[in-house]
Amino acid sequence: MTERREALNASGTNVVPGAYRGVAVASVGCELDEASLRRHFLGLEAYRRTRFIVVRNGAETALVAVQKASWDPLFSPITALRLLVDASECVYLEEPDVDTSIPGALARAARTHAPGKRGVVVQGRYSHVSFIIDPAPLRVTVREVVPPYPPKLLDQAQHVLDVAEHLPPIELVPDAVELDQLARSRTSANYLLPCRGGGVSIQGATTDYLDERPDRREWTLVGCERSQQIHEWFYGERAEQVDICPRKRVGGTGAVLAKCCLLETDLEVDDDRVIVPWGATLSQVSEALTILTREWEPMWAPA
Ligand SMILES: [Zn+2]
Repeated sequence: MTERREALNASGTNVVPGAYRGVAVASVGCELDEASLRRHFLGLEAYRRTRFIVVRNGAETALVAVQKASWDPLFSPITALRLLVDASECVYLEEPDVDTSIPGALARAARTHAPGKRGVVVQGRYSHVSFIIDPAPLRVTVREVVPPYPPKLLDQAQHVLDVAEHLPPIELVPDAVELDQLARSRTSANYLLPCRGGGVSIQGATTDYLDERPDRREWTLVGCERSQQIHEWFYGERAEQVDICPRKRVGGTGAVLAKCCLLETDLEVDDDRVIVPWGATLSQVSEALTILTREWEPMWAPA
């Protein structure tokens, strides 16, 4: 059972307590160093779920992990204590809008209100108290094409992260290329874009839209391989093309989330990248972020 994970061993970055947070808050009159806290807490009874204690003395806050004699009775004496974050590196925030069950929300609160602090305790929505130690969000580059605005995949990924209890803090790094900018990479008097709905036209050139099946003329297709296949179906030949598929864009390092026109139903894992279908659902985006997390933060789990 995850709630029985050994809190004393909590280590690494992005340490957050697990689902049944097991976080107690205690006010004490003693100093907040480990020896004083041991003297204070060892032998005291703690509730069966308690694994971490946010210890406060006036304006000072420290974070400790505790072990109890037994998990079974409702209360059991504390038998071991480890100071996880010293008062000099710890801060207590009252942020009623922060959902403390979301690791990413804890990390964002830490970065916004307590940059540089190792341990950040947040008293958030529903007055729940949780914490994060050594926040270090995983950076995920989100590769796509705009318009539409906001960039859809980026927007979906942010929606997922806003409610993701199971993911570590993730920072999305947008890598969105504008369609008309891609078009200009190959000069042409006539461009063919995938659909009028995008609202894009290219200055100084005529623009046709493939979804309207216009009469064939000499043009440069600004689209993906799927658009090229449609072109071939309509006109019996392939067009001059600027390929816009985000999957084909290279460069950069680290975790990448991209979409591809050719994927219709399933996502694909491709080395350090996860590719979702053009019309990915939120649950597919969530699955993609979960896969990236396993790949890049294999040791991460709520403490
Ligand atoms: Zn593609």
